[in-house]
Amino acid sequence: MIIALLDCVNSSMLKFYEARDSLEARQLIDALAAHRIEATVLGEYLSGAAGELPAFNFPWVWLINNDDLRPAQDVLDGFLASRGSLPKKGPWVCPSCGAQVDAGFDICWQCGAEAK
Ligand SMILES: [Zn+2]
Repeated sequence: MIIALLDCVNSSMLKFYEARDSLEARQLIDALAAHRIEATVLGEYLSGAAGELPAFNFPWVWLINNDDLRPAQDVLDGFLASRGSLPKKGPWVCPSCGAQVDAGFDICWQCGAEAK
């Protein structure tokens, strides 16, 4: 199945980025499109196409034109940087007393200090 799919891919296309999930792949494609770079996702529809157990495939973002690699790399850098600035989900450590506080609490359960 995979070989047959790749045979159909235009030879100028370039495998660019392995996304964690379909949502991330779509977001990256939107970011690329904003810079007039054409890209597409391959891989996510392969799940369950062959075999009894659905294969878990990470979606790959492909550039339609491999000449776009350099500007696309810049877009990817910005994309990853902006994603890194999103608020972290998970336990945080109190800056005042060092207690570990569960995500969802803005105030330390032990000393009442606010999360930074
Ligand atoms: Zn505390």
